[in-house]
Amino acid sequence: MTTLSTKDWHGRAAALTYPTGHYIDGAHVPSTGKRFTVTNPATNQPLCEVAAGGAQEIDLAVASGKRAFRSGSWRRMAPRDRLAVLSRFAQLIEKNAERFALLDTLCMGKPINDMLCIDIPQAVLTFTYFAELSDKIDGSVTATASDAFHYILREPLGVVGCIVPWNYPLLMASWKIAPALAAGNSVVLKPAEQSPLSALLMAELFVEAGAPAGVLNVVNGMGESAGAALALHTDVAKIAFTGSTEIGKLMLTYAGQSNMKRVSLECGGKSPQIFLGDVGDLDRAVTYAINGIFGNMGEVCNAGSRLLIDQSIVEEFVARFVAKGKTAFVAGDPLDPATNLGPLVTASHRARVLDYIGTGKREGARLEFGGDAPALPGSYVNPTLFSGVTNQMAIAREEIFGPVASAIAVNGIDEAIAIANDSIYGLAASVWTQDLSTAHKAVRDLEAGVIWVNCFDHGDMTQPFGGYKQSGHGRDKCLESLLGYTQTKSAWIHLG
Ligand code: NAD
Ligand code: MN
Repeated sequence: MTTLSTKDWHGRAAALTYPTGHYIDGAHVPSTGKRFTVTNPATNQPLCEVAAGGAQEIDLAVASGKRAFRSGSWRRMAPRDRLAVLSRFAQLIEKNAERFALLDTLCMGKPINDMLCIDIPQAVLTFTYFAELSDKIDGSVTATASDAFHYILREPLGVVGCIVPWNYPLLMASWKIAPALAAGNSVVLKPAEQSPLSALLMAELFVEAGAPAGVLNVVNGMGESAGAALALHTDVAKIAFTGSTEIGKLMLTYAGQSNMKRVSLECGGKSPQIFLGDVGDLDRAVTYAINGIFGNMGEVCNAGSRLLIDQSIVEEFVARFVAKGKTAFVAGDPLDPATNLGPLVTASHRARVLDYIGTGKREGARLEFGGDAPALPGSYVNPTLFSGVTNQMAIAREEIFGPVASAIAVNGIDEAIAIANDSIYGLAASVWTQDLSTAHKAVRDLEAGVIWVNCFDHGDMTQPFGGYKQSGHGRDKCLESLLGYTQTKSAWIHLG
C-alpha cells in the first residue's frame, strides 16, 4: 500500500513526462508521421498522442534485433552476465514503480493500488525468475553407438515478436519478454494501442541495466498495421501473443502466409468455478468468486466468469454473493489508493460490456445487482451478477471481459463438469469440494490448462499458465515457457 494520497498521485500524474514514440536500436524514436490518441478512461479525456508505426518502423526494429542477434552481443554474452543484466533490469522496474504505476493506470484505468501490489511486484518477480534461469538452459548428450558422439544444443530462435494486450500492460509484456531475453533472443514488442507507454520505459531501462542496443525494441501502432507487419515479417522467428481468440487465430494465418514462424497463443476464456454441495467454508468460496470476476474490472483472461453452483447451495450462495459482492468493489478514481474498481479500458469496450448486460436480460437471466454504470465521467460499469443463467445464453458462452458474473445452477459434479467443458475456451477452472476423489476427478476431467482446487488465481512462477482449446496453446511463466523461446540443434560427430 502506498503512502501517497490521491492528491499526491494526481500531482505526480500531472508532472509526469514520458516518451510517446518507438524505441529502436537503443534509442527513443520520436513520432514523425501518423499518430493515434490515447484516452484516459477514468475521465475519457485525451492523455497523449503516440506514434502510429507501420511496416517501416517494424522493418527497422526487426533489422535492429537481427543485427544484435547476429552480432552475438546478447546471445553469446556469458550466461551469468545476461543473468546480471536481467536482475538489474528487475531492480530498475522496482525502482521505477511509481512511474510504471502511473503510466499503466493513466492509459487503461487500473487502480493504482493494483499496479503497486500486483502488476509491478509480479513483473519484478518474472524478470527475477527468468534471470535466474539464464545459466540453466542446458543441452544434452545422448546414448549412441560407439562410432558416434551426439550432443544436442538448445539455442535461441532469433528475433521474437511480442504482441500484448492492455489489461496488464507491463505484466503481460514481462511474461513474454523475460523468457525470450533470458534464452538469448532479440525482441520486438508491439504494445496494445490502448496502453503503449510503459513498454517504452521498459526498453529504456533495459539498456540502462546494461543490455546491448537492439535486443529489446518497441514499436507502437495499431494491430492491423504495426501488429500485422510484425506477425507477417519473414525475419521474425516467433510471435508470442496474448489477446483475443479472434486475433490469435489471425496470428496462425500470418505465420502460414509468411515464414512458418512459431506462434504461441494465450487467448480468451470463460473460466468456470464449480462450487459443490460440500463446498466447505461458504463465505470463503463466495469471497473468491467475487474477487475472481470483479478483480481488475473483470478484464482478466482467466476471470472466473461462470459460477457453476450446486442446486443444494445455490440459493444461499447467490444470497451471500449479493450481500457481499454488491459493495466489495466500488467504482472510483483509479489514482485514489483506496479504489479497487477503475473504469473499463475504453468507452467502446464499456459499450460492449453494457451490450452483453442487455443481452443477458433479454435472454431471461435474473439481474441480481449492478447492470448499470455509476455516475462518474469515465468508462465505468458497476459489478454485475446474473443468476438463473443457462449455459446456452450468450453471457455464459462469450467472453465479456468486464465485471459480469453468471451464476448457473448445476446438479452434482458430473453435470458441472459437462457444463464447464461445454465451451470453446479452456484457460482455467476451479472446483470447490471437501471430497478428495471428487477433486481429483474434476482435475482429470476438466478441459483447462490451469485447475484450482478450493482456491482461485493462486500460483507462483513455476506454474505453467495457458490454455486448452481456443484459449490458445502457449504457456507463460514456468521453465516450459523459456524452452518455447529455444530450438534444439543436433550435432552428430562421426568418430570413425
Ligand atoms: P485484440 O486481440 O484485438 O488485441 C490484442 C493485441 O493484438 C493488441 O496489441 C492489438 O494491437 C493486437 N492486434 C489486433 N489486431 C491485430 C492484427 N490484425 N494483427 C496483429 N496484431 C493485432 O484485443 P482487443 O481488441 O483489445 O480486445 C477484444 C477482446 O479480446 C476483449 O474484449 C477480450 O474479450 C479479449 N482480450 C483478451 C485478453 C487476454 O488477456 N486473453 C486481453 C485483451 C483482450
Ligand atoms: Mn481488437
